[in-house]
Amino acid sequence: MPLELKLYDTLTREKRVFAPIDPERVRMYVCGPTVYDFAHIGNARPVIVFDVLFRLLRHRFGAEHVTYVRNITDVDDKINARAAERGISIRELTEQTYQNFKSDVAALGCLPPTVEPRATEHIGEMKVLIERLVAANCAYVAEDHVLFNVSSMPDYGRLSKRPLDEMIAGARVEVAPYKRDAMDFVLWKPSKPGEPAWDSPCGIAAPGRPGWHIECSAMSWKHLGETFDIHGGGIDLVFPHHENEIAQSRCAFHTPMMANYWMHNGFLQVEGEKMSKSLGNFVTIQELRENWPGEAIRFNMLMTHYRQPLNWTRERLREAETKINNWYRWIPDDTQPSDPDTSFLAALCDDLNTWMAIQRLDEMYAEGKTKLNYSPFEVQRELWARFKASANLLGILNASFSVWYRQLAARQTAFDLTWDQSMKPHIEARIAARKAAREAKDFKEADRIRDELAAMGVVLKDSKEGTTWEIAR
Ligand code: AMP
Ligand code: ZN
Repeated sequence: MPLELKLYDTLTREKRVFAPIDPERVRMYVCGPTVYDFAHIGNARPVIVFDVLFRLLRHRFGAEHVTYVRNITDVDDKINARAAERGISIRELTEQTYQNFKSDVAALGCLPPTVEPRATEHIGEMKVLIERLVAANCAYVAEDHVLFNVSSMPDYGRLSKRPLDEMIAGARVEVAPYKRDAMDFVLWKPSKPGEPAWDSPCGIAAPGRPGWHIECSAMSWKHLGETFDIHGGGIDLVFPHHENEIAQSRCAFHTPMMANYWMHNGFLQVEGEKMSKSLGNFVTIQELRENWPGEAIRFNMLMTHYRQPLNWTRERLREAETKINNWYRWIPDDTQPSDPDTSFLAALCDDLNTWMAIQRLDEMYAEGKTKLNYSPFEVQRELWARFKASANLLGILNASFSVWYRQLAARQTAFDLTWDQSMKPHIEARIAARKAAREAKDFKEADRIRDELAAMGVVLKDSKEGTTWEIAR
């Protein structure tokens, strides 16, 4: 009997056992980046959190049975403004930004989603939905705009559970003369000269472009269907974005729900405030990657439960780096991962409790370092294999020790901090293993060990007296 997987659903405000609509095809949609600038580490939080969920779902249901869709928003006011500012085309800006994003999240150990659809490639689907909404009297045309009529949906607001007046204040909704109600939101709007423009739906003559919310209803429909299992994003998207996605999809398809589980990560904060471009208190992933291994950045993110606010500090990042460093040093490179540890898995299955799962990793490491040091090799090997499988499920310990160490060594400070005392036993153990291989006339293995050490920046010198080593600077 496998462990129950429980997920917290923002819509019902409870942790529920996860049961997919179709276990052969588990479907998840997560709102992706608006590609106008480098992603900051706050933006990385949902990407990492939902990557862990993706890995867990693949583990439970089989990799080929999980479809993960994360969109790219490549039509937006901020994109138009930034392209004009930089004097480049919109396409150039979105392409460059997308490539940077891809490289950033790969460095953070995130698997590519199954589908990464772009809004501009789904304008046709958006127009179909808009036409349906107008036909169903859930939307109306006014002064070349198409607006969603919020009063047509009696349970609008169920996700955010906020009274209407609070929502109006929260959303800073634009009061426009063509709106029947202040809460009505834009599905389609006319394009100003120079802005991207498409033929409009609903017989509107002026060319136009979509509002923000409709793109996710269109892309999730195209790639996952009218209803699906999990919809995710940052907590700031609950209102108005996800509330409006629900309204659009349910009214267009006449369904009682859009997704069965609505999951939201908490904010990443700096000194108590949300990290954001508008507050100017942000660090880009790119900047951070210059000084820290991607794996440490990722791990730091997972040391806090995803629904809690996460305070970003250098100390915590260093703590994350040290832990990973210890683990890499402890586990031999040739360890083949087996099955994840049961208690570790139980923690992850409890609404993705990565904090608790990491506590279990700490426990296993302590056990390995103390008790098992004196145990038969087979017992140690079983623990390493179980540990590695568990860590891999979090997306860490995927490299080899030498690759990890080279990243550290490339940075002077970490190099000075970590190599001299702590590296000595490891290097000497490897030299002894090389000596044993040579004595057994296994020169291939001996050379492999020499290369492995060289990759870490350790140079060996053989002489009659034996082998000495130094660090190549
Ligand atoms: P954006 O590019 O602003 O549309 O945001 C992309 C994703 O990052 C969304 O899921 C946001 O909710 C999320 N996000 C933005 N800032 C933060 C933050 N400081 N902490 C956590 N998530 C964030
Ligand atoms: Zn969305």
